[in-house]
Amino acid sequence: MRKIGSEKKLCLICMEEHDVDIIAVVDDETFKGEEVSFSATYEYCRDVDECLETEEMIKANSLAMKDAYREKVGLLKSSDIIAIRDKYGISQKDFSEVLDWGKATITRYENHQVQDRAHDDVLRKIDSDPKWFLEMLKRSKGKLTDKAFTKYHHEARTQYKRKENQYLIDSISAVYADYEDEMATGCTELNLIKVVEMINYLATKVSSLHKVKLMKMLWYSDVLHFKRNNAAISGLVYSALRMGAVPKAYDQIVSLEGVTFDTVNYGDSESIAYRFQPTSGFQIRELKQSELEALDTIISTFGNLNTSEIVRRMHAEVAYKSTPSDGVLSFEFAKQLSID
Ligand SMILES: [Zn+2]
Repeated sequence: MRKIGSEKKLCLICMEEHDVDIIAVVDDETFKGEEVSFSATYEYCRDVDECLETEEMIKANSLAMKDAYREKVGLLKSSDIIAIRDKYGISQKDFSEVLDWGKATITRYENHQVQDRAHDDVLRKIDSDPKWFLEMLKRSKGKLTDKAFTKYHHEARTQYKRKENQYLIDSISAVYADYEDEMATGCTELNLIKVVEMINYLATKVSSLHKVKLMKMLWYSDVLHFKRNNAAISGLVYSALRMGAVPKAYDQIVSLEGVTFDTVNYGDSESIAYRFQPTSGFQIRELKQSELEALDTIISTFGNLNTSEIVRRMHAEVAYKSTPSDGVLSFEFAKQLSID
């Protein structure tokens, strides 16, 4: 046994007032046919060498025993269930409503009752799949107040977006795991925070920043910084496509959280263009002075050019002319970049 505290009070064991110890003991019990060990707390009287559980301790010890059982058989612990509910900011009662489980079910699971396996699976799925929770929430809209629904919906959307962004980061990282050559990465490890900051910085300073122009300006900024400092800014790897440089995993990159664009429709329905905008609340946290200087040079050189002018400039670069179509643009040509 281990002493975890003591308090001067009326000892309910010997009925004298003295310092009563609080102790932690490892208890063993059989629950639903499983032998479980758990840490239980008791009051302890040194004078008569006996233990006693207060009302509160009985509850806590029972919960500790059931959590030990849950852990042993692979069920969520009560604290895990509370954490899932907290993640979506939903009350016990409303969570039960959304799940269609009967009003007090979640409250019982968070306290004294061990959940069954099917309910455990549902809770795990909600934890890992905010999109599924969103669907369940929509289905139970009529059972919640408007205010509660709006709040939970917002939380679930936030969780969903965060999850989606993590998925994007993972898939971009998987693509970039194939490129270790320093002349492909510009001797720089991929930094997606910097990539998002570069896009926002360019969008802040360039009025009509469309996709092709953005891609070129990222490449020029990285190569110029490499030329000046022997290292690129972002760690992006660029392919030489028909219109010039395009970063690997471009589609995922522009979907990252913190990148904002409008879609602009030009006359006929087939030509929809992305126009990048600064994200509201955008701040520079990671980009260094030399990196901002490279971006500024590129902005003053290309900021006012239209897409075909910038594509023409790109096509004249030694790096582009020396790279087979669809090949990776190497930073070894940085010295010959047309800008200093
Ligand atoms: Zn006593």
